[in-house]
Amino acid sequence: SRCSSETFHGHPRLLSSDVYSQYESIRQGKQEIPKYFNFASDVLDKWSEIEKAGKRPSNPAFWWINGKGEEVKWSFEELGFLSRKVANVLTKECGLKKGDRLILILPRIPEWWLVKVACMRAGIVIIPGTSQLSAKDILYRLQASKATCIITTDKLAPAVDSVVSQCQFLKTKLMVSKGSREGWLNFTELHGDKADLFPDHSCIKTRIQDPMIIFFTSGTTGSPKMTQHSQGSLGFRPLLSERYWLDLTPSGMIWNTADTGWILTSIASFFDPWVFGSCIFIHNLPQTDSAVILNTLCRFPVDALVGAPTLFRMLVQNDLSKYKFMNLKCCMSGGEPLNPEVMEKWKSQTGLDIHEVYGQTEVGIICSVFKGMKIKPGSMGKAAPLYDVQIIDKNANILPPGQQGEIAVRSKPIRPLGFFSEYLDNPKKTAESERGDFYVTGDKATMDEEGYFQFIGRDDDIIISSGYRIGPFEVESALIEHPAVVETAVVSSPDPLRGEVVKAFVVLSPTFLSTDPTSLIRDLQDHVKKTTAPYKYPRKVEFVKELPKTVTGKIKRNELRDKEWGRL
Ligand code: ATP
Ligand code: MG
Repeated sequence: SRCSSETFHGHPRLLSSDVYSQYESIRQGKQEIPKYFNFASDVLDKWSEIEKAGKRPSNPAFWWINGKGEEVKWSFEELGFLSRKVANVLTKECGLKKGDRLILILPRIPEWWLVKVACMRAGIVIIPGTSQLSAKDILYRLQASKATCIITTDKLAPAVDSVVSQCQFLKTKLMVSKGSREGWLNFTELHGDKADLFPDHSCIKTRIQDPMIIFFTSGTTGSPKMTQHSQGSLGFRPLLSERYWLDLTPSGMIWNTADTGWILTSIASFFDPWVFGSCIFIHNLPQTDSAVILNTLCRFPVDALVGAPTLFRMLVQNDLSKYKFMNLKCCMSGGEPLNPEVMEKWKSQTGLDIHEVYGQTEVGIICSVFKGMKIKPGSMGKAAPLYDVQIIDKNANILPPGQQGEIAVRSKPIRPLGFFSEYLDNPKKTAESERGDFYVTGDKATMDEEGYFQFIGRDDDIIISSGYRIGPFEVESALIEHPAVVETAVVSSPDPLRGEVVKAFVVLSPTFLSTDPTSLIRDLQDHVKKTTAPYKYPRKVEFVKELPKTVTGKIKRNELRDKEWGRL
């Protein structure tokens, strides 16, 4: 299988990729990192040439379906000319120039990919946002970023219009829609059939350090922060990594179900597959419906699936023996810790492992269980190539294996490629993220003798009860093993005696809804006492219909905690 170690160390697959191999001497340190780099001309257009020369398998570059019979398939060449058309729309019709900022809020539709490539061709800085944003969220993003252009759908256009009077920088509004709306340019018409057939657009030259994309963080712990990445940090970094989280090839096909607003989609559904000439597969998934996802895996030759743990938690609720996946070989989960129980359930029913990826908007993938690597349940793998990841203490001392501390990535003397340039307009936050020679993640973990990291929790999520330090994730993972528990979040709750105690919010499986709550609570508590150290058991348990989550699907423990402590 592709996940086995057979080709892992030698990497014949990776090295066979033409675009990748031209950077070999830089990887070996024989040549410096180039001064100029543009993902569109240096990667995508190269694949287009390779394809034309008949040297790439007949695999689309992009394959999109919507479940209603519509389908879009592009080769690299088609992606090239369509995105040049869009680049012309942006520079001519919209008057955008290199360095201008554009907010892109689209669901998983092909236009999202076209606009992104077009922005790279024109040097426009992209700010992706999820379609779940409210008018207030959009206002915050427009004001904070000073974007001059927004591209969205007719669904969100009214929300934009409701706040537009407060956004003095916004000049151009573009709508992807069949209809029209006053004050909005129609994207679909501008780049559609009526536009020039073979548009002429020469890709702009960008320095590798020029800004390319600004992400707002998930906002799990406060206001989302503007995280700026350069042309090279997401586009060039994968070209330097001989050992990589997805062992992709030009015949591979990857499907990532994350929302377009999230960095994971930019990494797993844009840069990384295209560096290796793989096909990006997308189902537009208006709702995340497990049957749709499972059936799609049976009907399309997807070989790698990437999603947040919620995806896998949802999928394992199904009888998976009914489904026969066409080509699936590798599954990756990231964004939140994945419960070992979910991993086991998935493995026992599908035969497939779930590989964990741990990362942040700020620095991308920090560690991962790379293909072919031994899997240790509960561990999120080893440091990503090019990053020196350590566990450090308050004074930036590196801690020995087994000791709890903060996950940190060495950032000095040379800031590694892959790092955000800064939190825009927030030098204070940028400075707070530095400690000694390191960038600190704000996450607690341990590292073992073999260099595997075990996630404990976000700094603020750690519960201190009667002097014990308890990471919520371990308690959650114990709870989720119980058949009654679908999802759970564990936070601290005030207690007159102990200061704070462990409290679990639990979403029950439908079959347990009628069980007597008092005995069920006792049952759950006993279960945790048996599976982890007894002091970690939740003294308080509350059953809820759902858990509060960020738009990227992460559990907002801080919201539950604030409620417990009467801080809301
Ligand atoms: P904000 O910084 O605005 O509060 P956020 O930190 O949730 O939001 P992201 O950059 O999207 O924004 O998320 C990164 C964080 O997600 C990490 O710092 C970590 O806490 C968590 N995370 C990501 N992947 C994993 C994983 N595999 N296991 C455990 N935690 C993870
Ligand atoms: Mg964060």
